[in-house]
Amino acid sequence: MRETTTMAARLTALLLLALALFAPAAQAQPAKVTALTGGMLISGLSVPPLHHATVLIQGERIIAAGPASEIPIPAGATIIDTSGQTMMPGLIDAHAHLFMVGYGDEAAWFEWLRTDGKKYSIEKIMELSAYQMLMSGITSAIDLGGTPIESVSLRKRINAGEVPGPRLQVSGPLVTRRAFAGFPAEASAVITSPKEGAETVDRLFKMGVDVIKAHAGLTREDYFAIVKAAHANKIKVHAHLYAEQDVRNAFDAGVDVFQHMGSGGGPTYDPELVRAIAGTNRPVVLTAAHRSYVYPETVAFPGRLEDPVLKSLFPADIWDAMQKSFEHWPSDSYFASITRQARFRSPLVKQWIELNAMMGVGTDSGTPMNFNTDGLIREMKALVDEGLPVLEVIADTTRVNARIMDNPQTGAIEPGKLADIIVVPGDPVYHRLSNLMFVNTVIKNGVIYKQDGKPLIAMPQ
Ligand SMILES: [Zn+2]
Ligand SMILES: [Zn+2]
Repeated sequence: MRETTTMAARLTALLLLALALFAPAAQAQPAKVTALTGGMLISGLSVPPLHHATVLIQGERIIAAGPASEIPIPAGATIIDTSGQTMMPGLIDAHAHLFMVGYGDEAAWFEWLRTDGKKYSIEKIMELSAYQMLMSGITSAIDLGGTPIESVSLRKRINAGEVPGPRLQVSGPLVTRRAFAGFPAEASAVITSPKEGAETVDRLFKMGVDVIKAHAGLTREDYFAIVKAAHANKIKVHAHLYAEQDVRNAFDAGVDVFQHMGSGGGPTYDPELVRAIAGTNRPVVLTAAHRSYVYPETVAFPGRLEDPVLKSLFPADIWDAMQKSFEHWPSDSYFASITRQARFRSPLVKQWIELNAMMGVGTDSGTPMNFNTDGLIREMKALVDEGLPVLEVIADTTRVNARIMDNPQTGAIEPGKLADIIVVPGDPVYHRLSNLMFVNTVIKNGVIYKQDGKPLIAMPQ
């Protein structure tokens, strides 16, 4: 009897297990549909905004986008009313540093992490930045300069859905002739010859980086060796460039993306060189809005450093340390040459616009007072203020940046693409671009991370 009961119990358990295993397949149903409806749609394509639009999402994909009158909403769909707001593709930052958060001084930030803030590992900080970016509407980003093990690990954890954050491409360390003082040693890969440059590229590729960041001040032969090795591994080279000779060397060597091209510090470039770069359609990323744009903006409104929305995206101890780091911000070493840099900030940006370069949009965010939350909006505003039409800047920040990341599945709202969508108040095109700073709803890969201004997930602690 006892034996029979045990046997029966075992059989029941097996039956239940079988049911549990096979039930989902037997009852397989299409994923539920979410409908964003009522608001204006900016698709990221070169078309005017569409009023009273509907976007349908199923699973991770967009399945329909167009006039609300032409797109029926399936029964049972979850409806998000976007009336009075704008739906647009998730923003993409083509130059970020997730191991920094905008602290007043870069070297002092890493010193704080070694001392008072030592409970935060580099990867924890990167997790925090990823959260800040996602909550600010940034659904993809290229991290161009960090420590390789943590960068690759965070990218994998985000992709596996373990932690919230933008889709990432990561470079790991700068490939450079001189280490970046004050930064973690692993954030610089110092080379002494072109051969070492190529070997370093191979080593980083094996560690799992997606792109290479070649620093300024390499020799002409270094750039050639680095580009050759990277392209042999089918990855792109982004070059951090200021001096005209470096730009020329990087261009001749075949560097794929020119970073910091409107970042100031010198006069405009030889127009023939700019024309040649524009003519190849190789993208430039200006990173204009750190330093020579963030400085006057903070002079005009120092209160931006105490912004309550920004504060809500920081653990209290990091926020307090940040506030201390801002006490004497005009004398920070980061701004030591600000007057000379400010002189050329506008002509430099205008030069790339006027000579019609293919424009990616990136921020160098994480640098002093250049927060992971607002840096990208400031960069977009700088491009608009210097002469690019708003819709074009939005397309550059979404579709062109997606192309830079070799991810055509993102960067626009059209059927078949991954559902990376944000909803922002009002009309960012004809009203004000700065509305983008107040993202109401964030969807990445079809998952809603923020709705009606409220995060649906907790900040990493
Ligand atoms: Zn750089
Ligand atoms: Zn940078």
